[in-house]
Amino acid sequence: MALDSAGDTSLLLGSDDVPPVIEINAEGGSPFLLTCDHYGRAIPRVLGDLGLPAGELARHIAWDIGIAGVADALSKHLGAHLIAQLYSRLVIDCNRPPGAPSSIPRLSDATVIAGNEGLAVRAAEARQRDIFDPYHRRIAEVIDRRLRDGRPTVLVSLHSFTPVYGGEVRPWHIGTLYHRDTRLPPLLLKSLRSESDLVVGDNEPYAVSDGTDYTIPVHGEKRGLMNSGIEIRQDLIADPAGQKHWADRLARILREIETTLSAQRLL
Ligand SMILES: [Zn+2]
Repeated sequence: MALDSAGDTSLLLGSDDVPPVIEINAEGGSPFLLTCDHYGRAIPRVLGDLGLPAGELARHIAWDIGIAGVADALSKHLGAHLIAQLYSRLVIDCNRPPGAPSSIPRLSDATVIAGNEGLAVRAAEARQRDIFDPYHRRIAEVIDRRLRDGRPTVLVSLHSFTPVYGGEVRPWHIGTLYHRDTRLPPLLLKSLRSESDLVVGDNEPYAVSDGTDYTIPVHGEKRGLMNSGIEIRQDLIADPAGQKHWADRLARILREIETTLSAQRLL
């Protein structure tokens, strides 16, 4: 593991590393613009394994388990543009303001991230420059273009959450996450609550805030877009069957919401 030398290098991504951003349905006609900050768990080759065993790198601390399959299928069902990020949140968390303690965590759910200990400033900057910035620049570009073209745009940020955190069992199947938007989240909550088999979290297990989030405050709220986060419990989408089920369900619900928003002349 070459952490010491890697920590000081300014070259983070090499030619054999995956690009930071992946997109599906870039020309999709849906008003929903899907983002997925914790889609992947790649680590730049030069950072080795961040000092962690493989088991830790497969846990929820490294990525949002199951959400990639849901996001891919939902994008296809809706014809919605998906912009997703392929690197582990342990390298840099693309839903945290750069510089926040949880941006490049030294501790996550009781696991010490050795590769993030004592990180040089320029090494942290390289992670931002090569991973965080291209992802958010791309989201901003896409929103710019859509607004310029007069296309309705509703931002939906897709996440998943671990069923047990800090010894507490979380009862919700799914949660909406929002802060300032008063248009989309109530519709989403109403639709989810009308599904009789679901325990729905209202800003649970997390609420959005400027200090702990980035994608919704910056790309949704500051741009004046209708927006919400969606968090699905990871045990429900751990396998392809679960991912398909939830993508089908969310596609149906979001289509209904699109109809409602159109009727309200909000699209
Ligand atoms: Zn997430």
